Amino acid sequence: MTGELSLYRRWRPKRFSEVVGQDVVVATLKRAVAQGKLHHAYLFAGQRGVGKTTLARILARAANCLSPEDGEPCNRCPNCSRILSGQSLDVVEIDGASHRGIDQVRQLREEVTFLPAGARYKVYIIDEVHMLTQEAFNALLKTLEEPPPHVLFIFATTEPHKVPATVLSRCQAFWLQPIPEELIAAKVAEVAKAEGFELAPGAAEFLARRSGGSLRDALVLLEQLGRAGPITPESVEAYLGLPPRAQVDSFLEALLSQDSAKALEIVADLSRRGRDLALFSEELLARARDRAVSGEDRLLPLLPALVELRAQLPRAFSRKLHLELFVLEKCGVPQNPPREENIPPPSPPPKEEKQESEEAEPLGAPAAKEAIQGEEPCSETPQKEEDVWTRLLRAAWEKRADLGVFLAPAAATYVDGILRLTLPEGYRFHYESLKEKEIFAALQEVAREFFDPLLAVEVVYAGNDGPRSLTLEEAARLLAESLEGEIINP
Ligand SMILES: [Zn+2]
Repeated sequence: MTGELSLYRRWRPKRFSEVVGQDVVVATLKRAVAQGKLHHAYLFAGQRGVGKTTLARILARAANCLSPEDGEPCNRCPNCSRILSGQSLDVVEIDGASHRGIDQVRQLREEVTFLPAGARYKVYIIDEVHMLTQEAFNALLKTLEEPPPHVLFIFATTEPHKVPATVLSRCQAFWLQPIPEELIAAKVAEVAKAEGFELAPGAAEFLARRSGGSLRDALVLLEQLGRAGPITPESVEAYLGLPPRAQVDSFLEALLSQDSAKALEIVADLSRRGRDLALFSEELLARARDRAVSGEDRLLPLLPALVELRAQLPRAFSRKLHLELFVLEKCGVPQNPPREENIPPPSPPPKEEKQESEEAEPLGAPAAKEAIQGEEPCSETPQKEEDVWTRLLRAAWEKRADLGVFLAPAAATYVDGILRLTLPEGYRFHYESLKEKEIFAALQEVAREFFDPLLAVEVVYAGNDGPRSLTLEEAARLLAESLEGEIINP
C-alpha cells in the first residue's frame, strides 16, 4: 500500500487506454497526438468524476512525451517523469474555482510568450473554467485568438453553458458522458481484488449504480467501505443511508398487488426512521428498472409512474403525503386502514358552520372535538358519549379512508330527513371528491346507518371560489391539513 495517497489517486489512469468509458474521446486524442495535429485548445465538459482532469493530464504528457507510443505518453521519459511528479514548469494547473481573479490569467498572458522550459508545449490546464470572472475570460480570449504555437490550453468544466461562446468556439470541445454502470462495476471489482477488499456477489454492481456515472465516487466509496470489512449491498445501503432493498422490493410488491395498506405501512416506517423519501423514490425507480430489465415484465407498467414520482417527490412540500397519495392513486384505498384501535377520525377544522335554518341542529359536540384534537390518542375516550356525527365519521373512515378524509371538515345538519353536509371555503377538493359517484354512494350507505329516515344527502360547498381542478400539490396541501398524517400515523 502506498500510504496516505487515496485509492482513487493511486488508480488514476496514466495512459489513454486505461481511461474507462470515454472511448470516442480517447481515440480522437490519441490520433491527434500520433499525427502531431493537436489543437491549441481543448475543452472537456461533463459531470464530476468522469475523467476530465485525468484526460487533461494524460494529454499534457502525451503532447510533450519524447517517445510517445501510438499517441500514448510513455510515462518514462524525462518530460513524462517531470510532469508526473509535478515538477515540470511547462504544465500549469489552474483551478478556476479558487483563482477567479484576473491576476492569474494576466500572469498567464505574460508567460505564454515564453517558450517552454524543456518541453514541446507549455500546457495550461484550467479546471472549472466556467468559474473564471468575465475579466479573466476577456484576458484569456486575447491569448486564445492568437495562440503562440507552443501553447496548449486544456479546459475542464462541469457547466459548459457558463463558458462564453467566444471561448467555446476556439476550443475543440468534448462532452464526456457519465460512465456506464457495468464499466464502473468491472473497475470496482478489479480494484477491490487488487486492494484485497472482499466484495459480496452483486456488491460491485450495486455500488456502481449508486455512483451516478462517476468512477471517482465509486472508488471513494469502495475505499471507505472496504476498510470496514466485506462489502455487501447491505453495507452500501447502510453507509449511504439507503432504504433496505427488501423494503424497496416489498413496496414494489405492494404496488403490484394493489395492497395499499402494506405500501402505506412501509411509508410510515420509512418516515418514522427519518429516511429520505426522495432517496427512497430513487431506489424504487432504480430497483424497478433493474428488475424489469432482468425480465420481470410485470414491473414495466409501473416505470412511468415511478419516473414521475422520482421527479416530483424532491419538490413536494410534504414528501410523505405525496408518497401516500401516490399509493392511494395506484392501489386505491386500503381495505383495512392501518390505524390503531383508538385513533379518532381526523378533526374538523375550527370553522364556524353556517346555520341554514333555525331548526337545524349542528351535529358534533365540542367536547368530543377537544378529545380528538389532543396530542395523544386518548384511550379512555368514552365511546358512548360520542355524538352521532363523530360516530358517523369513524364509520366512514373505516369504510373508506378517503371518505373519512373528505368528510372530516364538513359541518353537518339533519333536518326533515335530509342530511346536509357543508364544506367550508378552501375545501373544494373535498367537496368535489364527495360528489364523485363511488364515494357519494359510500357516503349514503354510511349515513343510512346513523339517520332514519334518510331521504337525501346533500353536499354543499360554502366557498365562492370558482370551479377549477386542483393541482396535486394543492390537493396534497388540503389533505394534509385535514389528515395530519392520520392515515398511517404509527
Ligand atoms: Zn514520455
